[in-house]
Amino acid sequence: MLQNIRVVLVGTSHPGNIGGAARAMKNMGISRLVLVDPLDFPSHEAEARASGASDILANAQVVATLEDALVGCNLVLGTSARDRRIPWPLLDPRECGVMAAEQAAQGAEIALVFGREYAGLTNEELQRCHYHVHIPSDPDFSSLNLGAAVQVLCYEVRMSWLAAQGQPTKVEKVEVTSTRSSEPVTMDEMELFYGHLEATLVAIGFLDPENPRHLMARMRRLFGRSPVYRSEMNILRGILTETQKVARGEPHKRKDQ
Ligand code: SAH
Repeated sequence: MLQNIRVVLVGTSHPGNIGGAARAMKNMGISRLVLVDPLDFPSHEAEARASGASDILANAQVVATLEDALVGCNLVLGTSARDRRIPWPLLDPRECGVMAAEQAAQGAEIALVFGREYAGLTNEELQRCHYHVHIPSDPDFSSLNLGAAVQVLCYEVRMSWLAAQGQPTKVEKVEVTSTRSSEPVTMDEMELFYGHLEATLVAIGFLDPENPRHLMARMRRLFGRSPVYRSEMNILRGILTETQKVARGEPHKRKDQ
């Protein structure tokens, strides 16, 4: 499905931006790059900035006009850093991602079109697009780097594509091969901790046994809010032990000494 989506860069002057765009695409699983009349391509700078996405550059199609780049397309989404005079159907990047993913899933060929670094797309080029997409940047500084703009749109396409596939968009929690230190402690270990905590708080004069003011209940509520792992419990118990030593006036050793 993502193979139905092509990224079209029109009149790019900095080869580094072509490389940056290729990298952004590959990160998001989009591989078809079409370059319309690039100033300097192929180039070492593009390769360097692509860092590992050189297959995208190697397979990039270079054409003379936008018309050539859009051959076979069913849906053309053109990006613009600013509002144009002619009103045109507008999408935000999320809507663009949803539309591209939906239509690509139905077999449509889709182009995401990006303009020149200094001048964007011409009005004529923009009029070849079904929709215009504007990344809602700060109006006082609205123009993103070309590679960054490609990244934003490809990211949105990927998010919609993952959702359509029912694939998770969150990195699965890495299962730590059950070492004891990553296990949550048990109730009885928590009880030992509360006993240790209470004794320490009394020793340092923070808790007055005659007037406890629900302090331990509050501590239980605090520590009960989330599981405490064994490694965390070791730290807490270590802190209490050292605190008791200080309270007793015993010499203690700092870990870094
Ligand atoms: N001075 C140009 C800036 C072009 S930036 C202009 O005003 O149009 C180069 C390309 O990056 C743009 O043509 C567009 O494809 C993309 N781009 C940069 N900022 C964007 C934004 N806020 N929304 C959508 N596309 C953007």
